[in-house]
Order: sequence, then C-alpha cells, then structure tokens
Amino acid sequence: MTSYKELGLVNTKEMFAKAVKGGYAIPAFNFNTMEQMQAIVQAAVETKSPVIMQVSKGARKYANPTILRYMAEGAVAYAKELGCANPQIVLHLDHGDSFETCKSCIETGFSSVMIDGSHLPYEENVALTKKVVDFAHQYDVTVEAELGVLAGVEDEVSAAESHYTKPEEVIDFSTRTGCDSLAISIGTSHGAYKFKPEQCTRDPKTGKLVPPPLAFDILHKIEEKLPGFPIVLHGSSSVPQDEVDTINKFGGKLPDAVGIPEEQLREAAKSAVCKINIDSDSRLAMTAAIRQHFAEHPDHFDPRQYLTPARDNMKKMYIHKIMNVLGSNDKL
Ligand SMILES: [Zn+2]
Repeated sequence: MTSYKELGLVNTKEMFAKAVKGGYAIPAFNFNTMEQMQAIVQAAVETKSPVIMQVSKGARKYANPTILRYMAEGAVAYAKELGCANPQIVLHLDHGDSFETCKSCIETGFSSVMIDGSHLPYEENVALTKKVVDFAHQYDVTVEAELGVLAGVEDEVSAAESHYTKPEEVIDFSTRTGCDSLAISIGTSHGAYKFKPEQCTRDPKTGKLVPPPLAFDILHKIEEKLPGFPIVLHGSSSVPQDEVDTINKFGGKLPDAVGIPEEQLREAAKSAVCKINIDSDSRLAMTAAIRQHFAEHPDHFDPRQYLTPARDNMKKMYIHKIMNVLGSNDKL
C-alpha cells in the first residue's frame, strides 16, 4: 500500500470547498505522456493554480499504472523545482469502472477516484458507489460519483444518447453513498464531436456549428437541493476552432468537430461546479502543433523537434483555461 500522502499529493476535499465558496473551478486535465504532464505542471505553477491530473482506463493501459504513479510523484517534485513551495496536485482516476480498479488505484497512490455507475440501474449505482466510498474513506481518498449519462466517446466510455441528471435523485444519492462530489449530465459530452450537425445551428457568418446550450436550469435545481455540494462537469472541452483549422490545413480531417462554448463553462465555474474535465482540447493542441511542424519541416525526425512545440501549445491552452475560463489562478 502506497498512500498518496507519501507522494506529496492531496485529495480534493479542501480545494473543492474553496472553489465552491470562491466561485471558480479546478481544472481536471487528462494525461498519458510526459509532455502532457510537463505542460500541466508548468501551467499550474505559472498561474499558481491547484490542478487535478487524471488518468482514464485507457491511459493506464497506454502508459502503465506504475509509470503513471511515478509520473504523478515526479509532477509534485517538478512543481517544487519550478518554484512552487506547496503544490496542490491531485492524482485522480477518471471513469473507474469497478470496485477493483478503484481499490487498486487507491492502493498505488491515487488521492481521488471516480466510480462511474451511471450506466447501472439507480440502486446498483448507489450500492457500487457506497462500496467504493467506504473503502476510499479509510485512506482519506475522495470519491467522485456520477448520476445521469453523457453522450459521446471517451476511451472505452461511450453512450449514444445523453440522459440529464434528475435533480430529485441527488439528495438521496449523495446521502446514501457518502460520495464527495457528483458528476452530472446537463448537456456536455465526451470527445471532439460532442454534437451531431443536426443538433446544432450554423453561424451564418462563419459557417461553423453552434451547439445547443447547457441545461443551466437543471444545474440550478441541483444546487438548490444540495447547497455547496461539489459538482463536476465531464466532457467540457471547447474544441478550439483555430486548432481544428490548423489540423485540417495541414492534412488532418476533422470536419464539424464541435465543443462546449467557453462562455458557458465560465458561467458554470461560478456555480457549484468545482471540477471541469478537459481532455480533447489537449489532444487537439498537441496534434495541431505536430501537424504544422511536420508540414513546415519535412526534414525533421528527432521527436524533440516536434514535441517541443506540441508541449508549448498544450501549455498555452492549459494557461488559457485556468486564467480565462475556470478562474483557478492565484489560489495557492
Ligand atoms: Zn468523462
């Protein structure tokens, strides 16, 4: 058993309480590679932001769970080396699919886990979540649960249709499970294709797709039921059109990729939403920089030549999200 405390990590309890009170949200960035990890830490240190580094089941398969654990430990040491005396870094399991996966993460140094029982019948979701919470809380690890289903595809998590969270269920669910935060479905979606063209309208000037608005009425009803309770939004990349355009200009093919407009996320961050998950935007920033670099430097073959601009572009995106969307800067 390795406790996250030995690795210098923190759980989400205190940072969520502060974020809900302060009207901002903590960034939850997914990572799989060293370059992503470096960019996340650099961005968090430069903006003095707490940060959640999260890994999905796919990331554990890609990078290996042991390596990810050491990378998180390295992230804390790296943040200190960059001048941050007291980094607030969470290592979080994204979309834990079973008690066993959550248990294994808790035993290897994760400070926070998500148990995603949202696809199960209600009573089974309650039972599974409670089982994970009872185990996690023995080690001071925080647990995120989910009610409602998000559409879209993220690693192995996929659903054709979304089902909004039912506000009338949230009190019963949070009381009986003891979960520390709750991911809800109010119209965000996983992946870079969050909405089908027929769900959107088109901006007559740019021809770009405009997605349907988030269901803020449901969010506000949930806030009324659970005042001050930490709420999480998954699938909240904005799919920046300049990155999509760069990818398409240099040989990519991402027609009609569409995300959540940043002004809506900005509004959500001011509410009880205190964790906003961003994964696709980092993938797009990395891919755009690499495609452009290959097109402009066909003679380059040293990975450091194209991974340097890729890392810089991700860092720029992370800083933008922290400062201009979530408002978690200057909180350390
Ligand atoms: Zn998710």
